[in-house]
Amino acid sequence: MWEQMPEHVKTLCPYCGVGCGLIADTDGPRLLRVRGDPDHPANFGKLCPKGATVAQTVNTPTRLRYAMQRDDLYDDLTVCPPHTAVREAARRLDSIIQQHGPQAVAFYLSGQLTTESQYLANKFAKAYLRTNHVDSNSRLCMASAAQGMKLSLGSDGPPTCYADIELADAHLFVGSNAAHCHPVLFDRVAARVQKGKARCIVVDPRRTATAEIAEMHLAVRPGTDLILMNGLLRLFRDVGKIDKDYIADHTEGWPELNTLLDQYPPEFVARTCGIPYEQLMAAARILIESERLLTYWTMGVNQTVHGTFTSNAIINLHLATGKIGKPGCGPFSLTGQPNAMGGRDVGYMSHSLPGYRSIAEPEHRRQMEQLWGLPAGAIRDEIGYDAVRLFEAMESGEIRAVWIIGSNPAASMPNLPRVRRALESAELVIVQDAYYPTETTSYAHIVLPAALNLEQDGTFCNTERRVTLMQKAVPPPGDAMPDWWWVKQVAAAMGFTAGLRHENAAQIFDEFARTTAGRPNDQSAMHHELLRVKGPQQWPYPAMGRPSERRYTDGKFPTPSGKARLWARDLGPEADATSLEFPLLLTTGRVLNQWHTRTKTGNVDQLNKMDPAPFIQMHPDDARELDLSDGDAVFVRSRRGKCRGTVRLDANASPGVVFVPIHWNELWAPASSPNEATTDDVDPLSKQPGLKCCAVSISAVSANRTEQLPLSLIE
Ligand code: SF4
Repeated sequence: MWEQMPEHVKTLCPYCGVGCGLIADTDGPRLLRVRGDPDHPANFGKLCPKGATVAQTVNTPTRLRYAMQRDDLYDDLTVCPPHTAVREAARRLDSIIQQHGPQAVAFYLSGQLTTESQYLANKFAKAYLRTNHVDSNSRLCMASAAQGMKLSLGSDGPPTCYADIELADAHLFVGSNAAHCHPVLFDRVAARVQKGKARCIVVDPRRTATAEIAEMHLAVRPGTDLILMNGLLRLFRDVGKIDKDYIADHTEGWPELNTLLDQYPPEFVARTCGIPYEQLMAAARILIESERLLTYWTMGVNQTVHGTFTSNAIINLHLATGKIGKPGCGPFSLTGQPNAMGGRDVGYMSHSLPGYRSIAEPEHRRQMEQLWGLPAGAIRDEIGYDAVRLFEAMESGEIRAVWIIGSNPAASMPNLPRVRRALESAELVIVQDAYYPTETTSYAHIVLPAALNLEQDGTFCNTERRVTLMQKAVPPPGDAMPDWWWVKQVAAAMGFTAGLRHENAAQIFDEFARTTAGRPNDQSAMHHELLRVKGPQQWPYPAMGRPSERRYTDGKFPTPSGKARLWARDLGPEADATSLEFPLLLTTGRVLNQWHTRTKTGNVDQLNKMDPAPFIQMHPDDARELDLSDGDAVFVRSRRGKCRGTVRLDANASPGVVFVPIHWNELWAPASSPNEATTDDVDPLSKQPGLKCCAVSISAVSANRTEQLPLSLIE
């Protein structure tokens, strides 16, 4: 007997943070196709190729349908009933906790889980197991933007909304290839620019598809965005285009920032960023002339060891010019994953708690203990390990068990040689995923089959803080179940039932929403039925007070003084600096038609035809120096490891910089993962690794040559 499903179900695209609405057409138990939801305010029916082919990712031969287990990694994984896998997970977790304490257990979660699953896993770990070692792949994605917004504005969460796109006079993209990474959102920008209704500047070391439509492309050297942002604000100041009233009434820190800006004359900025002086001045002129400015940023900023500083510098520009909290204005951090915003709302990182609370704040811990019905002191006061330190602690034997849900760290983490050593040395690795195999399941002792988002009810929150209800369109295959269900079963098998009695996703959401009451991300008046009836809603959506599409419209910020903070941010030393041995810079990123480690998109022929294979993008000048040609097989070597690939010559690359897409890893293209070479040096404030900026050398595979680019080419 199959469950009777409605035939046209409103749900959501599982890929990027734009959060496009989908309608899933079914014939009952079978998914026939998906199409864009014309009523969804994120996309009004439009979809990019990934979203349009979601239906082909559901019933693939690679779907994980049944639980599996083994005693150790030398054995094969064997299929087992769900209750056996649950009992075994509970027994082994309990045994490790008995011997080594709860802090020997870690969780690694994902921005691709529903808010409900993120919430319950986080609650189970921090409230009941009593480990704060809960981190997520958002650490690789948005941690610096989140930290930057918290330090500058008093709260994470972008102040802007998509409606601002049609109201802005100018769009500044910094380290964002939105044309490929946030395509439906970018189409709205492109439409405005192409009609001559707005201007566009793109700051990126590569001439990307985003740069193609821009009036100006500033091909900065990787890692110099902070210098550029300071330099631009200096030029605003020098022509009297800062907003002195806004600075005086709504900010703190201007005197220090003003002094710092003296160190950023345009000649210095142009030279250090590697862009022509005239181009810098022309870009500044465009921005100064524009009344309404949106600045978008994402991985090119966040995945550097000074991503938080650069985020602060971007926000400085908006605060000092008063271009925030107004229509068509604001700093707009673009979220990589579909529900990283939801994850941040529920506090699924090692330093946070639901409702944008912090583990480091005694009052925040007390509030959550009260909300969760825990005794005082139940939540540990020490901050848990961020993603990089979590795997380091696993390698050293301090962390002995990890439960990985909806992520593939054996492909996506930087410095993979270390991550593999860590996973190999763990006593227990539980991997919960919708697909098998993945690079990470190679290290799993227990594998739990997860439902996809089309197979469950739940919510995602997109990059404009809009929460959408995803409704179950088809039943999950085999024994697959929603992620929160597995968490609840294992918790129950370990004896934790009080506080984890939720029967469905709606009940979990209700509890989560209550934790946000009175907090900056208040969504306490939201519930599943409201979202079903009224459609997607943006937070803040408080029970007391009014919803609002834009934040900080009154110039009041959630800081002790009520004012935002202008930070004087100066550039520190490069973490993974180039040298004679490693003279090039490696940068990594997405291509339009693939997603993360291809567990989903690798199954879609249509997408694979458009983006079929990995490549190493190089500027022809660099290739000439190394006597390389288009199509040559090469090694990319760093201080940590090496990967191999095929050279793609492209004049759109910057000289001295090579680009490798992140999607092809061990399963799809052995030895090709760029993360064999990337650095796990982190931003000291956000703990986000500097994936975008790694010193490497390139050498031909066939002749095993070691010639390298002279340093002079990149200086
Ligand atoms: Fe999905 Fe993002 Fe494409 Fe929209 S833009 S369809 S959310 S991948």
